[in-house]
Amino acid sequence: MKLKFCGATRTVTGSCYFVNTGEFKFLVDCGAFQGKDEIEKLNYEPFPFDPSQLDVVFLTHAHYDHCGRLPILVKQGFKGKIVSTQPTRDLAEIILLDSARLQKEEYKRWSAKSTNKGERGGLSEEGSLYAERKPLFTEEDVQVALELFEIYPYGTSVDFKKGVEFRMRDAGHILGSATLEFWIKTKEGRNRKIVFSGDLGQPGARIVRDPDLIREADYVICEATYGNRLHKNRDETLLEFLSILKQAKEEQGNVLIPSFAIERTQEVLYEINLFVENNILEDIEVFLDSPMASKATEVFKKYPTFYDEDARRLIEKGDDPFYFPGLVAVDSAEESKRLISKKGVVIIAGSGMCTGGRIVHHIKNHIEKSNTHMVFVGYQVEGTLGRRIVNKEKEIRVMGQKLQVNAQIHTLGGFSAHGDQRDLRYWLRSFGHSPKRIFIVHADEEIAIGFASNIKSELNIDVDVPKLNEEIELK
Ligand SMILES: [Zn+2]
Ligand SMILES: [Zn+2]
Repeated sequence: MKLKFCGATRTVTGSCYFVNTGEFKFLVDCGAFQGKDEIEKLNYEPFPFDPSQLDVVFLTHAHYDHCGRLPILVKQGFKGKIVSTQPTRDLAEIILLDSARLQKEEYKRWSAKSTNKGERGGLSEEGSLYAERKPLFTEEDVQVALELFEIYPYGTSVDFKKGVEFRMRDAGHILGSATLEFWIKTKEGRNRKIVFSGDLGQPGARIVRDPDLIREADYVICEATYGNRLHKNRDETLLEFLSILKQAKEEQGNVLIPSFAIERTQEVLYEINLFVENNILEDIEVFLDSPMASKATEVFKKYPTFYDEDARRLIEKGDDPFYFPGLVAVDSAEESKRLISKKGVVIIAGSGMCTGGRIVHHIKNHIEKSNTHMVFVGYQVEGTLGRRIVNKEKEIRVMGQKLQVNAQIHTLGGFSAHGDQRDLRYWLRSFGHSPKRIFIVHADEEIAIGFASNIKSELNIDVDVPKLNEEIELK
């Protein structure tokens, strides 16, 4: 049986793994590459397998770096099933449709600009290659992909025949996220178990449950986004968050939170809701300036059975964990523009890594003010505007304008949807000595290599850091 690493190798994005047992061919995830230009370019490369020959795509969760190339796969002849949990399907619909619309708009803007100037593109001012690229897929392509979904719950084994059995476990990362277990009968008649971690959440995170521990596997493919870091604990993070909110209000500055529409936004709302409910924070005004996040929140409200116990209890008490007095959902672009005159308020807007969307306008309007607080609650991929701000660059370019970063920048790792080094090691230790080999993926190169050597010495198991399109024979 062969395993090919078609993305998220020595980098965080583009998750895609191809398994060929001889009789059955499947993918785990089909995500888009994001960040630096040379990484995003990979989205335009042909797949290193024939999409029409695939039986199934198993989708771990709805983040764009895991589902973003699904419509391309379908466009190129994939006709099999896409297997996931129900929230993953619903959230993937929001993410993919939004991306199709955004790509269309960006391309239109670029075409108009380049026709006006009579020149051919080049990099846009933000360094994004969107501007010179044709859309990867359309809304129609997304609709075709959505037809292929087949939904399964956590914890139920499914026999796909042809010697492949499969089960989803809770990865505790975002709503509906899964770790995948496969039991495969190889051509030689051996039984082998492969586990794909998917993205692993932080134990103790809000809303989602803790990642399930898995006791046994022959091969493990494990993410290591934060394989070199320890997050601050949750309580410290919350105290820090609270004091930022209070300080900004006192200084009449705004708090800008670039936030991923899925999970990060709902967790931030959940925490502010608790501050308000418990009278720790008064008269707070929060603008959720992201129609996509509002849509995602509706999906969250639909599936309380996927919540952890605390979140479920809140609902049973009659509290809506994602709503509190003072929260305003901003819909139209005009309303969003009107926020410019606000003082002492919180603005949550996408995109999460500041690569586009409404947050970019807010950054332009507020980043030079010293009473502005920017709060980062999610991972910032290399090459993005968010990463440059987190790296405390003093001067940035936003929409063609040079700006001085005078705002106060905060990174709240405790909000991360990813476990830190300790969490990842704990999760891997639960396999005991059963794995023959562990593969480290979904991390920047240095982090992946460092984490692999840690694990190797800790567990005394072979640990590899595969390269892009590397193929491994699993015996
Ligand atoms: Zn993810
Ligand atoms: Zn990911």
